[in-house]
Amino acid sequence: MKISAAAAAVAAAQNPLSAATAEPDRWVKSVCRFCGTGCGVQLRIQDGRMTALRGDTEHPTTKGLVCAKSLFLPKVVHSPNRLKYPMVRKNGQLVRTSWEEAMTLVASKFADAIKSSGPDSVAYYGSGQAMSEESYLANRLFKGGIGTNNVEGNPRLCMASAVGGYVSTFGKDEPMGSYDDIDHANTFFLIGSNTAECHPVLFDRIMARKQSDRSVKVICVDPRKSPISTIADIYLQPIPGMDLVLMHSMAHVIVRDGHVDPDFVEKNVQFKAMVDDAAQNVTFEEYARFLEDFSPEKAEKLCGVPAAQIEAAAKQFVEGPTTSFWTMGLNQRIRGVWANNLVHNMHLLTGMIGKPGATPFSLTGQPNACGGVRDTGSLCHILPYGRVVAKEEHRAEMEALWGAKPGTIPAKPGLNTIEMFNALGRGEIKAMLILTTNPGQSLPNALPHRKAMKEAPFVVVLDIVPTLTTELADVVLPAAMWAEKSGVFGMSERRYQYHPKVVDAPGEAVSDFDVLLDLARRLEAAGVVPAGYISSKFENTDDVWDEMREASRNTAYDFTGATRERLKAERGLRWPVPTEDHPGTAIRFVKGADPLLDSGPYADDTLKPGETKFYAAPDKKAVVWLRPPKGPAEPADAEYPYVLSTGRVLEHWHTGTMTMEAPELKRAQARAFCEVNPVDAKTLGLRTGDWVRITSRRGECVIRARVVDMPRPGMAFVPMHWADDASLINKVTIDAYDPGSKQPEFKICAVKLAKAEAPEGA
Ligand code: SF4
Repeated sequence: MKISAAAAAVAAAQNPLSAATAEPDRWVKSVCRFCGTGCGVQLRIQDGRMTALRGDTEHPTTKGLVCAKSLFLPKVVHSPNRLKYPMVRKNGQLVRTSWEEAMTLVASKFADAIKSSGPDSVAYYGSGQAMSEESYLANRLFKGGIGTNNVEGNPRLCMASAVGGYVSTFGKDEPMGSYDDIDHANTFFLIGSNTAECHPVLFDRIMARKQSDRSVKVICVDPRKSPISTIADIYLQPIPGMDLVLMHSMAHVIVRDGHVDPDFVEKNVQFKAMVDDAAQNVTFEEYARFLEDFSPEKAEKLCGVPAAQIEAAAKQFVEGPTTSFWTMGLNQRIRGVWANNLVHNMHLLTGMIGKPGATPFSLTGQPNACGGVRDTGSLCHILPYGRVVAKEEHRAEMEALWGAKPGTIPAKPGLNTIEMFNALGRGEIKAMLILTTNPGQSLPNALPHRKAMKEAPFVVVLDIVPTLTTELADVVLPAAMWAEKSGVFGMSERRYQYHPKVVDAPGEAVSDFDVLLDLARRLEAAGVVPAGYISSKFENTDDVWDEMREASRNTAYDFTGATRERLKAERGLRWPVPTEDHPGTAIRFVKGADPLLDSGPYADDTLKPGETKFYAAPDKKAVVWLRPPKGPAEPADAEYPYVLSTGRVLEHWHTGTMTMEAPELKRAQARAFCEVNPVDAKTLGLRTGDWVRITSRRGECVIRARVVDMPRPGMAFVPMHWADDASLINKVTIDAYDPGSKQPEFKICAVKLAKAEAPEGA
C-alpha cells in the first residue's frame, strides 16, 4: 500500500502546513469534518484564518489520532475555489446575483409549485454532512410545514441498509456498542469494510489492540484484498454478492458445534422468517433445519470460499469477545438489510453482544449521517428519534411539538432517493432543494439522473465549491463550511459533538441553516407554510437544539441531558443522556454495573448488572432472521462477464469536492484507476498503465488499469472520487435498490472490460 494505514493515522503532531507561522492566537476544540469516526481535533486560528489542525489528545475515544485527510482541512476551508456569491441561470449561464434576488426566485418557485401542484411537487435532498440542527430544520419545514414527506438525503446511499438491519433486528436504529469495545475484543470480524483507508483511526486502534495481545485475531471478509487483509489471521474472499451464503454457513458451524448460548437465546432472542410478505415466528429448531442447507462444503460451491476457511472463521468468531465492523460492502446491496441481519444473527446466537468487546457495529462514512439524518428522521419514511411517518401517534407527537396543524404530515412515506430523482426526470417534482451534497456525481446510473437535474423545472444547489451538481442547477448558493458555523455532528458510536464557528465564511457564503430559515420565512409569507411556524421559533442553531432535545424526551434516544453548555464543555456525549448529570451510554440495552456498562434508564430495574434487555424490540427480544441467500441484481453473464465494485482510497473522500482542494491530497492520488486481477489482465492483454474501457448496460468509462492481485478474478475495482467524464464511474454503476432499505447496489454490477485508446484530453 502506497501510504500504509498505520502511517496514515497520525499522532497528535503539529501540522507541517503551519510550521513556519507565528505563535498561534488560539487552539479550539472541534471535530473532524470528514468521516463518521468523528475524531476530536483542535483547530489553530491565527488572524481570522484556520492555519492548522491537530488531533485532540483529550478526546476520550480518538485520543489525539487523526488521518491524512483531516490534516489538510485548513487548505480546503481556505481554497481559492470556494463559492462566494449566489448565482442564477440566465440564458443558460450561471451569473452572479444578490441573495435577495436568488432567494426571491427560490421561494417563488417553491410556492408556485406547492400552490399549483400540491406539496408533493417539491422535494428536499440533504446530507450526512449538514449539521444536526440543519437536517432537523429541513425535515421540520418540509414535513410539518409544507406537508410533504419528500425528504431524503445522501445517507440513503450509504447507511440505509444498516438502519434497516438494526431496526428489523433490535427494534431501533444505531449501534448498541461503542469504540470502547475495540479495547476489549478478542476477535474482530471485519466484513465489507476497508477500515484501513475509510476509517483509518479506528483501524489504527484495532491494530494497537492486536499488537497489545497476541491472542487477538482478525477475520476479514472482502472480495477485494483491501489493506485490512494484510493484518487478517483469516481472510475470506467470497464471490461478490454471495456473502449471505457465507454467513449462513458460519452460523451452521456455530449451531452444529454447540456454540449457541442457550440461556441468552432463551431470554433475549426470537426467530422469524418472512412468509407471504409477513414476518412469522419460527422455532430455534426450524432455524437449525434451515441452516442444514449451508454446510461449509455446500457453501463453498456457492460463495467460492473454501470450506476449511469457513470452518476456521466460525471457530474464531466464537472465541470472543467478538466485535464486528462493516460498511458499504454490506450496505450498498440489494440485500443489504439481510446481510446486516446475518451479522446480528451470529452475535445473538453466541451471546456475543452487550458485553465489553462484543458488539455488531456498522461504521458510517459521513460525519453526521447518524446524528444528522438517521436520528433526526430526515428520510422520507421516518420522523425524529425513532418515530415513523406510518404511525399516527408518531405523526401526532411531532405535529404537536412542531405546532403543525394535525394531519399535516402525510401517513405515506415520500419518494426514496432513486424514485425522487426519477420523479424529477418525469417533471413530477417541480422544485428541488439540494443542500451540501453532490448527487450529480454520487448517484448510481448517473446519466439519467444528471439529465433529470439539468432538465428539471427548478433545482437549487448549495455547496462550498463548484461540483458536477452545481453545473446542472438553476440557482447555486455559496455555503459556509463546518468551521464557519456552529452545530452538532453525531458520529458512529452515538456520540454527539459540538463544533464551534471559528472563522468567517468567504464572500457572501452562509450556512444551510441560514438558507433554510430564510426560505421558511418567505414560504410563510407566501402562505404555503403557516405564519410563524419556523420564523417565530428559531433564531440560531442553539434554539433548534433545545427543541431537538425535547423531541428526544422519553424516546430510546433521549438526550435531554445533552445541553448546549455540556456539549461545548465536554468532548461529546453518547446518547441516551436523559439527565444533565448522566455520563452518556457506552452500551445500550444492558443494565449498568460500571461506567462502561452504564446503559442509562431504559434497562429493566429487575435485571442484574450486565444483563441485557432489548427494550426497543417487539416482545423485548431481538430477532434472528431466516433470510434466503439471494445474489445481486445484475450478476456477471456472457455479455458482461466481469463484476465491477466501487469504493474509496485513503487520500480522497466521496466525490472529492473537498480533498481535491488540497493540492497534496490531489497529487497523492491524482487519477482514477481500475484494478484488474493478473489472471484477467492476461486474458484481456492488459498491463498496468494501459487504458481499459469499462462498459455496463448504462454507460462507460475509460481509466488506466492497475494490474494487482487485490480484486478476485472476474472482478474489477474503481474508486469513486474523480469527476472527469472518462472517470465518472457512476455512469456505469446500477441504481437497483434494496426493497427494504431502498439503498442502491453500488457494490455490484456486470461490466465488460477491454483494452482501449486514451480518452480525449488524457
Ligand atoms: Fe477525520 Fe475520519 Fe480521518 Fe478521523 S478517521 S481524522 S474523522 S477522516
